[in-house]
Amino acid sequence: MSVLIFVELDEGKLKKSSQEAIFYGAKVAGMLGTSATAVVVGQADDTELASAGRFGATKVLHAADAKLNEPNGMAYATVVAAAAQQESSKVVVLAKSSLADAMTARLAGKLKAGLAANVIELPDLSNGFRVKSSIYTGKAFAYNDLKADVKILAIKKNTITPEETDATATVDAFSPALNDSDFSITVKKTEKATGDVLLPEADLVVSAGRGLKGPENWGIVEELAKALGAATACSKPVSDLDWRPHHEHVGQTGIKVSPNLYIAAGISGAIQHLAGVNSSKVIVVINKDPEAPFFKSADYGIVGDVFEVLPRLTKAVQAL
Ligand code: FAD
Repeated sequence: MSVLIFVELDEGKLKKSSQEAIFYGAKVAGMLGTSATAVVVGQADDTELASAGRFGATKVLHAADAKLNEPNGMAYATVVAAAAQQESSKVVVLAKSSLADAMTARLAGKLKAGLAANVIELPDLSNGFRVKSSIYTGKAFAYNDLKADVKILAIKKNTITPEETDATATVDAFSPALNDSDFSITVKKTEKATGDVLLPEADLVVSAGRGLKGPENWGIVEELAKALGAATACSKPVSDLDWRPHHEHVGQTGIKVSPNLYIAAGISGAIQHLAGVNSSKVIVVINKDPEAPFFKSADYGIVGDVFEVLPRLTKAVQAL
């Protein structure tokens, strides 16, 4: 009986959020007196797979069937359910993501499991199996008692900071039976979004709003993002106006981000925007209006014109 962790790949590498999930799963395994097994779907070399050991997995099950090269929530749920059954896993951990969202309910159905999403702490085992999760876009917490035999925990980004060792995991090929019904939805192809850093995964985000006045001014946002190695994001009106692509829009109706640093330039801080960014560790707001609501949620605020402040910040970062 091991704790099973589903690990996502990004171009053959373990995703950062999945490294957190492995570390989290290994901690839970330690609490339960068992080991942590990772299940990885898709193409990756053995050295990369074995590196799951650095975060606490002792074994990796690798499902490398070419039919699974494109992320497919249906088929991936079948693979992870088969791995959980093979390993008699009572706890399955995965990092919250759009792929995980497409898998978790299916996985819970297959394993007749209790499911908690947006988990933000290690479980409390003092009286059953209780997990704390973030609800209502971060405005409240729920404490969930998971009573089913199998428990699935979808953890939010930044729930835990992985510590690394130089351990390696053993890697076993894993070829569960897949049938046509697992592919009743087929993903024909996936395309990487623009930008060097993927927004949902980013540790640093530079985001801008209508205060930038028009798409022609985004150079100063991109330059700061480049200097920091950050992803770029925007408010909803900016993507509605086609100043920026829709996949950059953050907020209640857009992508939810939890970076270590979120820089908001020329964004007023409407509640719908905050809903997507309020679990960022540090928020820096740049706005020329000292009364802008965003300042109430900021760790650091700069009252100033974005057209002056952003280039100065970029220069300061470049000089580091
Ligand atoms: P504005 O509100 O126009 O603010 C621009 C800001 O820039 C102002 O604070 C201004 O002081 C400042 N500014 C102007 N010029 C400068 C300058 N030169 N230097 C510095 N600062 C300057 N919004 C989202 O972002 N994400 C969502 O997911 C989302 N979902 C929504 C869902 C619903 C159902 C609804 C009703 C709304 C939603 N909205 C969402 C829209 C939201 O309510 C706000 O209208 C929006 O976030 C405002 O965008 P903004 O801050 O870019 O623009």
